[in-house]
Amino acid sequence: GSQAIAFLGLGNMGGPMAANLVKAGNEVRGFDPVEAAQEAAQQAGVTVCESAAQAVEGASVVITMLPNGALVTSTYSEVLPSAGKGTLFIDSSTISVDDARAVHAQAVDAGMLQVDAPVSGGVKGATAGTLAFMVGGEDEAFAAAEPVLEPMAGKVIHCGGTGAGQAAKVCNNMVLAVHQIAIGEAFVLAERLGLSHQALHDVVTGATGNSWALHTNCPVPGPVPTSPANNDFTPGFATALMNKDLGLALAALESTGTVAPLGAAAAALYDEFAQDNGDKDFSAIITSIRASAGN
Ligand code: NAD
Repeated sequence: GSQAIAFLGLGNMGGPMAANLVKAGNEVRGFDPVEAAQEAAQQAGVTVCESAAQAVEGASVVITMLPNGALVTSTYSEVLPSAGKGTLFIDSSTISVDDARAVHAQAVDAGMLQVDAPVSGGVKGATAGTLAFMVGGEDEAFAAAEPVLEPMAGKVIHCGGTGAGQAAKVCNNMVLAVHQIAIGEAFVLAERLGLSHQALHDVVTGATGNSWALHTNCPVPGPVPTSPANNDFTPGFATALMNKDLGLALAALESTGTVAPLGAAAAALYDEFAQDNGDKDFSAIITSIRASAGN
């Protein structure tokens, strides 16, 4: 049914997500400090408010889509006093598992329901309403969140208790980073062995080394015409965003005492590559593999 939803953070992701909630018949009250984001949201039928607290007054659901955990924490501190008891808080930002658990406690202490619900699918998925939501939280909170997420979602997966959504996302993206580097290394090795890009693609996509990093995000032009490599590495999934997610993976490895040399190496390689290439698709890491191979 239609609800009053506060949407905090109307950026590249939040803007189109809020627009899909409006289209589904909800009353969406938004806040973002950036004027361009306010204007785009207004165009999409969002009622833009003067402050986050004002957006939250009278809302039965509060969704945050913010850049980082520090901003989610400060935003919760700011708006919790304005929310009615039992309001459902959904945080779809990508933040650390530890921050997710801390903001959950903050919300529950104030008498609210709360889930972490990070997404994959990018701006394309946000616009099309086909995001994959990975949700962490108690059954009651998940049951309340699922129908709210539906107009923005292709898939909603209940991953477990608080923080499980962020845990799923950080694990997936750590694997993805390792895969994208590994297939880049294989293409560079193949080039030096005289094996064609097309042959490597055709063999590996039908064999045990296959992955999304190859069959969809192929880092050389040709074999997969829709991959960013065919378009100057225009993202796609920008290196800067992958680098942010790998920082969260490193934090999770450290806080759990997990030794993961490949994940750690991927984080170090992307951190260096992001210095000058943050706006390129993360498959462009193959160019640094080629350059550092020496000849
Ligand atoms: P963005 O920078 O485009 O949007 C964030 C918005 O938050 C900005 O418009 C900013 O002005 C606003 N903001 C900052 N402080 C605020 C405050 N106190 N109150 C309200 N709004 C505030 O970033 P994005 O690409 O939309 O990403 C948002 C989140 O989604 C991030 O955590 C990101 O890691 C995650 N994410 C992004 C993608 C992607 O492809 N862009 C994919 C999956 C997940």
